Amino acid sequence: MRCPFCGHLEDKVVDSRESREGDSIRRRRECLSCARRFTSYERVEEVPLVILKKDGRREPFDRQKLMKGLLLACQKRPISLARIEQLVGDLHARLMERPDREIRSRELGELIMDELKGLDQVAYVRFASVYRDFKDLPDFVKALEGLMHKETATGRSVSLPPEAPKPLSQALFPSEAVDLPLLKPRKK
Ligand SMILES: [Zn+2]
Repeated sequence: MRCPFCGHLEDKVVDSRESREGDSIRRRRECLSCARRFTSYERVEEVPLVILKKDGRREPFDRQKLMKGLLLACQKRPISLARIEQLVGDLHARLMERPDREIRSRELGELIMDELKGLDQVAYVRFASVYRDFKDLPDFVKALEGLMHKETATGRSVSLPPEAPKPLSQALFPSEAVDLPLLKPRKK
């Protein structure tokens, strides 16, 4: 690093320590030319993930919001909080690998549905039934809340028919052909 006193480019690090929060490293350096000391800080570059909404607006990816949506979809289902957290963590990691760190909200919804499909059918159906109408994750949590309220109020839950007289996919989404194999839990 260039010495702020004499402009020399070589130095040695005499002390290096992490900040208490672990978000930066402070280094004391000594210029090899004038022997004066100076400090440098190193921190992780914060690269936000961005959701591109249907209307073209961009919104920062909100991990909390996604978590909330999934908790709602998985309400009263035998899915542990740890499993949901893991799902969110995996999704987040996958998104961070994208070179542009931007994802269309529709594509994100499909990724989530993909994960839910392998996890729990009822949670998947809840998510999908709301998502198909909205196709925009940011507005979706509110709608899912509405759905869950309705389920509670009517005492009915969105669940699989006890005996499906017709293919499951038609029973759930009469207007849309969804291949039945897609609804089977994915093997890992
Ligand atoms: Zn110097």
